[in-house]
Amino acid sequence: ALYMAKRNKTERKQFWKSFQGEEILAENSSTAYSRLIEQTGGLIPYFQPILDLQTGHIIGIEALARLQHEGEIHLPDTFIPHLNRKTMQMLTTRMLENACQVALKLQNAGYPLEVAVNIPPDTLLEKGFLQELQAILKKAELAPEYLTLEILENGDFLSLPLAREKIAIIRSMGVRIALDDVGSAYASLLRLKEIAVDEVKLDQSLVRGIPERPTDLVFVGSVAALAMAMGSRYIVEGAETPEILDALAVLGVDCAQGYAIAQPMPANELLPWLQNWKPQPQHNQPKTLLGA
Ligand code: C2E
Ligand code: MG
Ligand code: MG
Ligand code: MG
Repeated sequence: ALYMAKRNKTERKQFWKSFQGEEILAENSSTAYSRLIEQTGGLIPYFQPILDLQTGHIIGIEALARLQHEGEIHLPDTFIPHLNRKTMQMLTTRMLENACQVALKLQNAGYPLEVAVNIPPDTLLEKGFLQELQAILKKAELAPEYLTLEILENGDFLSLPLAREKIAIIRSMGVRIALDDVGSAYASLLRLKEIAVDEVKLDQSLVRGIPERPTDLVFVGSVAALAMAMGSRYIVEGAETPEILDALAVLGVDCAQGYAIAQPMPANELLPWLQNWKPQPQHNQPKTLLGA
């Protein structure tokens, strides 16, 4: 922060540009992005499987936005920072619609998986959001239990009474709520004990040190205990190796998501991937890495 404060405006802009990656569109306006998102083949939702560590079965998928432009696939970090509020809302609507359709198709093919969609905090607070959500579920004919909304605790968002109210209403509709990126700079661990949610998703930065670093193990295990006490499902993101999956299972983590299981993939690759998946329980004997 101190370093940035000393720089002039142009340098700051360049710094953030390099940090966020190349801009996709030369005409860098939210309107241009919104055109791209609307156009067929512009927005391409990808999906990443979520593994139940105790049974070895895939229980869900997370929808992750991708933009295709001039034959290249771009990651959210390169375009989400450029979107204004309205375009963000459009992206969310399209992701929700698409995710529900994909979940229904998988159900009909014999894979009743939950689907998770990332919802920006201010979209959640939008006046018409609950009605829109209901309309999307109805149109897709998807039972609400199959949809999870992932919410990033953005600063003090979850301390807002309105945010808590909306979350309670959404849960009473039967839609699941997940707290995303818990343990990252934004998502405060303290919120966990204040608000009831269906799922807690641990940020991937906290998994990097596993299995070597004892403090990371203790942290992941402590959040497991907290999530269990709160009655929430506990998902750890960024599981990149089989060793991490083993360690997570031993620590009592419910579910994992990461490259060790699968990379995010386009919808048409999901079914063949699922058909190929061999359920592999990560451990059979309860043991502990912490004690002994
Ligand atoms: P997130 O919701 O925490 O999603 C998990 C991110 O971790 C994804 O990045 C995923 O590709 C990546 N990831 C999964 N497994 C691994 C792993 O083993 N190692 C590593 N290093 N990374 C892994 P992605 O798709 O680039 O998305 C980044 C973030 O952008 C998401 O983080 C989410 O906050 C946001 N995002 C993505 N799609 C949407 C969307 O449709 N709407 C909104 N509002 N935000 C989105
Ligand atoms: Mg997420
Ligand atoms: Mg996350
Ligand atoms: Mg994240």
